[in-house]
Amino acid sequence: MESLARQIAQQYFSLNASAQQMAGYGSLNFKLKVDGKAQYVLKLDASEETADFLHAENAVLQYLSTQADQPGLLPVPQSNRQGSQLFTYQEDQQSYMTRMLSFIPGTFSAEVAHDEKMLKSLGQFLAKLDSLLLPLRPAAVERRRFEWDLQYCLDTEIHLPHIKDVKRTRIAAYFFDQYRQNILPQMPHLRKSLIHNDANDWNVLTQEGKVSGLIDFGDMAYTATIHELAVALAYACMHTDDPLQTVIWVCEAYHEVFPLEEREIEVLYYLIAARLCTSVCMSAYSRHLYPENDYIAISEAPAWDLLESWIQLNPYQFIRQLKLSCGFSVPASPNASLMQEERQQHLSQALSLSYPSPLILEGGALQYLYDSRGQTYLDAYNNVIHLGHCHPRVVQAGQKQMAKLNTNTRYLYSLLNEYATALSAKFPDPLNYVYFVNSGSAAADLAIRLAQAYQQRQQLIVMQHGYHGNTQIGIDISSYKYNGKGGQGAPKHVQELPLYDTYRSQGSVADYLKQCEQMLERLDAPAAFVAESIVGCGGQIPIPADYLQGIYALIRAKGGLCIADEVQTGFGRLGTHFWGFESQGVIPDIVILGKPMGNGHPIGAVVTTAPVVEAFENGMEFFSSFGGNPVSCAIGLEVLKVIEEENLMTEAQKTGDYFGEQMRKLAAQYPVLGDVRGSGLFWGLEFVADGQSKKPHPQLAADLVAQLKEEGILLGTDGPFHNVVKFKPPMCFHTDNVDQLVTKMADLLSKASK
Ligand code: PMP
Repeated sequence: MESLARQIAQQYFSLNASAQQMAGYGSLNFKLKVDGKAQYVLKLDASEETADFLHAENAVLQYLSTQADQPGLLPVPQSNRQGSQLFTYQEDQQSYMTRMLSFIPGTFSAEVAHDEKMLKSLGQFLAKLDSLLLPLRPAAVERRRFEWDLQYCLDTEIHLPHIKDVKRTRIAAYFFDQYRQNILPQMPHLRKSLIHNDANDWNVLTQEGKVSGLIDFGDMAYTATIHELAVALAYACMHTDDPLQTVIWVCEAYHEVFPLEEREIEVLYYLIAARLCTSVCMSAYSRHLYPENDYIAISEAPAWDLLESWIQLNPYQFIRQLKLSCGFSVPASPNASLMQEERQQHLSQALSLSYPSPLILEGGALQYLYDSRGQTYLDAYNNVIHLGHCHPRVVQAGQKQMAKLNTNTRYLYSLLNEYATALSAKFPDPLNYVYFVNSGSAAADLAIRLAQAYQQRQQLIVMQHGYHGNTQIGIDISSYKYNGKGGQGAPKHVQELPLYDTYRSQGSVADYLKQCEQMLERLDAPAAFVAESIVGCGGQIPIPADYLQGIYALIRAKGGLCIADEVQTGFGRLGTHFWGFESQGVIPDIVILGKPMGNGHPIGAVVTTAPVVEAFENGMEFFSSFGGNPVSCAIGLEVLKVIEEENLMTEAQKTGDYFGEQMRKLAAQYPVLGDVRGSGLFWGLEFVADGQSKKPHPQLAADLVAQLKEEGILLGTDGPFHNVVKFKPPMCFHTDNVDQLVTKMADLLSKASK
C-alpha cells in the first residue's frame, strides 16, 4: 500500500515522497516525507458513501485555514494538479476517495504530562476552535447519525452484551440509564454547533507542554456544543488521579475564551460518562467483529478504569465545583441540624437517625451513595437495595410499567401471574402459593394470621432476639422489640426459645434442644414457630442447621407449623442457597419475604402451601390495595431476572468468602474482633473487650462505624449488646470494595489498639 501512496503523491501532486502507513481506522493514512521531513498526510477512504462528508470536512478545514485567530495548527487540504482537493482513485476493483492534508507536527498529548499548563491550553484551544466553527452548519455533517455523536450514544447500548464482565456491564448500563434520565430531557435545550468531536489523546498534538494542534476531523458533528468538552475530557481524565481537577482546568480555560452556559455544566458529568460508555461498548463490539485488531480497542482499558472511578465521583459535587470555578453561583449546602429540627416538627422522634451527625443523601449509584457535602460513600450496609442503588434494569422496569398500567389484584393482568409463577418456582414443593403485600411487617403479620387460622389456635413460639415487623402482631412475635427498650415483655400467647450462639453459648446444641423440648412439653400445642435463618437483630447469629432441624421436628411433633422469615437472608444473599432455610436443610410451611424483593420498591410476600391457603378461605376476603400491583410485579420480576443474569448469588459467595478470609485475618491480629460469622454478603463482626472474657465492647463497635463513615464507608451495629457490626451490602459489592473496607478497618483497629 505504501508504494500506492507514493505513486498517488507522484501522479496527482507531483511529489517525490516516501510514504509510511499510520495507525488508524476508517481511512488508510500515509505520512508523506519530502526530503526526509514529514509534510503531508495522504488519506484514502474506501467507501464512496463518505464523499459528501469528506467534501464537507475539506471545506471546514479550508475555512479554518483562512481565519485570523487560529487556535493552533490544523490540517490544510492540498489541491492536486487539477486543483481538486478530493478525487477518486481507482485501483483494480477498488476505488478510493483520496485527499492530501498538511502534516501537523508535535507530540501526541497521550505521550506528555497532563498538568495544569497542558490542560488549560487544551481548554483554550478547543474554545477558540468551537467559536470559529460557530457560523458553519454543513448539511452532510448534520445529516449523519452515528454512534460517536453523543446525542445518539444510546444507539451503542445494544452492544452491552458484548461486554463479558458483569461488573462492568452493570456500570455501563447504569450510566446509559443516567444519560436517559439526566441528559435526554435537556438535549433540546442545549446549544448546538459544529464541533471537532474527537479531541482524544491521539488527535491532540502538543509542543513544549502545550496543545499546539489538532488532527482528524472525521468525527465532526453538528451537535450540542458541550459535547466537544465531554469528549475531550473523557480522554483527558484517563491520565489523572484527580479527574475533577482536570475537568476544572480544561473548563475554566475554555469558559474564559468561549463562555459556557450553566446548563452545559449541569450535563457534563453524565455526558463524560456516556462517552466512556460509548467507547467501551464500541470496543467490545469491534473486538467481537475483529478479534485481531488491537488499535480498535486502544482506549478500552483506560476507559474502564475511568468509568470505575467515575462512579465514585460525586456528580452533585462535580457540578457544584465546576459551576463555582466558572463563576456561577450555587445554592448553599443544606444544614443537617436545621433539617433535623424541621423533621422533628412533623415527624416522631421514634424514627431514629443513623450517626451522631446524620447524612444528607442526594443520590445513589449501585454500591455507592452521594451526600450533600460532596462525599461518596461505599454502602456496606443496605441489603434492601439488593442489586444496587438505582439499578438501571429495575428503574426502567418500574418506569415503564408505571407509564402503562397500575391497578390492583381485583382485575386480571398477566404480570401478577407471571411474577407469582416466577417467585414460587424459586421454592421447593409444597411452597406453591403466594400472597403479595407491601412490607416485611405486613408479610409477617399475614403469616401469623395464616398459621393461626389453619391451626385454629393462638399460641406462638419465637426465637430469642428475633425481629419480624412493626405491626402489633410483628411486635408481639419480636423478642428484639418486646424485650427491648419500651417493650412490655412477651405477650401471654408467645413463648421464646433460646438462641444458640456458636460464639457465646455454653453447652452443646443437644443441650439446647433438650431445653426446648422441656419447654414445649409444658406448653399447649402451638400454632406456629417463627425464626430467621440468621438472626439479624440478634447480631447476625446463624442458627446452626442441627439446632433448627431439631426445633422444626419438636414443633411439628406438637402439631405446629414452621415459619421462616427470609426478609434479610433471602434472594441469594447467603451465596450458597437462594433461601436461608435451604442452607439449614429444612422446609418451612410458611415463608415471609420483604426487603430485597423490590430493590427498594416496597414489596413483601408470604409463600405457603395449598392446605394453609385453603384454611384461610373462610369467606373473609384478603385484599391489599397495593400488594401485587402491576408496577410491583414488574419490579419484582426484574429483580429475579437480574439476580439470575448477573449471577449474583455465586458472586456473593465468592466476595463473601473473601470478606470472611480477610476479616478472620484481622480477628487473629486483633483480639477485640472476637467473632467473624456469616455467609455470602451477610456477616456479623462481634467486638469484645478481650478474647477471654468476651465482654461486649459496644463503644468500639460504635466508634468504628462512626469512623468508617468519616472514611466513606457505611456500616451499622446491632445485637443485644450493640457490639456487632453488620455487613450486608448491595449484592454488586465486589472484592475491590472488600479490600477498601478491610484496609480502613485494619487501620482503625491498629489505631484503637495503641
Ligand atoms: N423480618 C425481618 C427479619 C426484618 O429484618 C424486618 C425489617 N428489619 C422485617 C421482618 C420487617 O420488614 P419491614 O421493615 O419491611 O416491615
